[in-house]
Amino acid sequence: VTEEEKTEDYLFKIVLVGDSAVGKSNLLARFARDEFYPNSKSTIGVEFQTQKVHIDGKEIKAQIWDTAGQERFRAVTSAYYRGAVGALLVYDISRRQTFDSIGRWLNELQSKNHAHSDMNVVTILVGNKSDLRDAREVSIAEGKSLAEAQGLFFMETSALDSSNVSAAFQTVVKEIYNILS
Ligand code: GDP
Ligand code: MG
Repeated sequence: VTEEEKTEDYLFKIVLVGDSAVGKSNLLARFARDEFYPNSKSTIGVEFQTQKVHIDGKEIKAQIWDTAGQERFRAVTSAYYRGAVGALLVYDISRRQTFDSIGRWLNELQSKNHAHSDMNVVTILVGNKSDLRDAREVSIAEGKSLAEAQGLFFMETSALDSSNVSAAFQTVVKEIYNILS
């Protein structure tokens, strides 16, 4: 077995979840390709994208799933969640309504995912668009407090200026790796 083949052992399915236009597709574009789309439409959504992540010298493949606009119709299918071991639960810090939806997304994630009955989906609550300081409607404290109450990791990110984007994905991958290894 070559080194290359050994690394195939780690493939984690991670899903992006949250209301339309919170920046899910751009978080993935920033993380996987270092790109940003100022006026993106749901059409840029891909089914999933695989990105290598290095943890403790190990190469892990994160298979990150993005919705292609179905979230507008509350029609994200069970197939989307099935087998996921990680999730980024995303809201937009400049639109409170997207923060208010988090509970519903969390329920959907937990009820439609049947991956490992012995393991909860490793989830990080992500307050995206931290660059929009003047338009902020949700404080960092509120985000933190919801995350603590639900047992989630928490981070604010900006797909626009890149802050914390890699860190958010890495946090999830590292925790899954710690649990499974
Ligand atoms: P999705 O529907 O959740 O996939 O959201 P998109 O990634 O398509 O983003 C929706 C809109 O928000 C687009 O116009 C993006 O350019 C914009 N956007 C995404 N992330 C950020 C961010 O971090 N900061 C700012 N200012 N705009 C963002
Ligand atoms: Mg999208």
